[in-house]
Amino acid sequence: MSTRATRTYELDRAHVFHSWSAQSTLDPMVVEGAEGSYFWDGDGNRYLDFSSQLVYTNIGHQHPTVVAAIQEQAARLCTIAPPYANEARSEAARLIAERTPAGLDKVFFTNGGAEAVEHAVRMARLHTGRPKVLSQYRSYHGGTQTAVNLTGDPRRWPNDTGTAGVARFFGPFLYRSEFGATTEEEEAALALRHLERVVEMEGPSTIAAIVLETVPGTAGVMPPPPGYLAGVRALCDKHGILYVADEVMAGFGRTGAWFALDHYGVVPDLITFAKGVNSGYVPLGGVVISDHVVETFSTRPYPGGLTYSGHPLAAAAAVATMTAMRDEGIVENAARIGADVLGPGLREMAERHPSVGDVRGLGVFWAVELVKDRATKEPLAPYGSSSVEMNEVLTACKRNGVIPLANFNRIHVVPPCTVSETEVKTGLAVLDEALNLADRYTV
Ligand code: PMP
Repeated sequence: MSTRATRTYELDRAHVFHSWSAQSTLDPMVVEGAEGSYFWDGDGNRYLDFSSQLVYTNIGHQHPTVVAAIQEQAARLCTIAPPYANEARSEAARLIAERTPAGLDKVFFTNGGAEAVEHAVRMARLHTGRPKVLSQYRSYHGGTQTAVNLTGDPRRWPNDTGTAGVARFFGPFLYRSEFGATTEEEEAALALRHLERVVEMEGPSTIAAIVLETVPGTAGVMPPPPGYLAGVRALCDKHGILYVADEVMAGFGRTGAWFALDHYGVVPDLITFAKGVNSGYVPLGGVVISDHVVETFSTRPYPGGLTYSGHPLAAAAAVATMTAMRDEGIVENAARIGADVLGPGLREMAERHPSVGDVRGLGVFWAVELVKDRATKEPLAPYGSSSVEMNEVLTACKRNGVIPLANFNRIHVVPPCTVSETEVKTGLAVLDEALNLADRYTV
């Protein structure tokens, strides 16, 4: 490592407190630079970014027009507080609202996904006058207190405050069906019946919102079966419950559409977004709000805000990101790569590797679920933890220059939406070889 990289590492270990980690066990890579689908470390090793960091660099690293837009905005006006109108903020809101369904026209900006979820829940509670919110067990909604309480992922466990105001339900997930379903249609029908029962037993008149990742991401990339989201919408309508679509991870190109919702044709009451809106070049998130919820706060003040809501640097990055995505056909690229290269490549690999229990996804949003036994579906790492076996696979990928995202027994293959066919094939070849290590543990 260069002297500079060594110093960075030592200062990090001495002074930086990292997320979701036991501090003494960490050995962070010093990243010196990045471009497109690659980043590189202090020793000059290049890595293909099959993780898009934390599934957010949808436009790839260092996109030149986005970098330039941030620089231009910084030179003109670095910051202006939320009560003022600002060109970058107005334009970003317009471009977002243009891409959401009709009737969702106003944007409340936050600094990230968890804050977006916090505010969506607050809006829903104030709008309905009801206290409770429902979410899926297999979900991730963020690390702040309300968002983590809504989260079903095991990261909630050590943070759970007793979850006042939250009830959870099982979403559809055919591979590990809670309902004993064998087809997508059956899974959708049974998951809807289960949700309807949860709503009935919780008391519809106490429920403000159902918060649902359109395609649950962190919890396993589980595209919902046809009809499920329409059923959720109908159930919400029946009981005056708001439907909050969490598009923080699935939005802005990830699934090969601007929003994952576009695949399913449902219209929620509130949409949360972050990550891909500006590829995280500057932190940004928000809530797109339907007209009837906006109406609630037409004369009555909305009792919430953030110092940096709609920060001009973040908003300028969002405008440039959405413009580049449109002009360069980046969403279409994600769709094509998913349909023609990534999906077929992963499925073909699954046939050859007994350790692959399931492959699912769309666009550049895929998960490979590793098991010890295909018949029993015993996972290669238990729910809620990693394992020596999983670490072997991940270490082999890294050694050969590819970094996917890992969650328990799953490898998430989530490259930028800009990824090329050649890059995907390079990454898949490395993963293919690494899976031989997992195969050794199968029965
Ligand atoms: N919702 C979803 C669906 C997410 O995937 C995430 C982040 N992984 C969040 C909310 C929280 O976003 P943030 O980390 O920006 O607060």
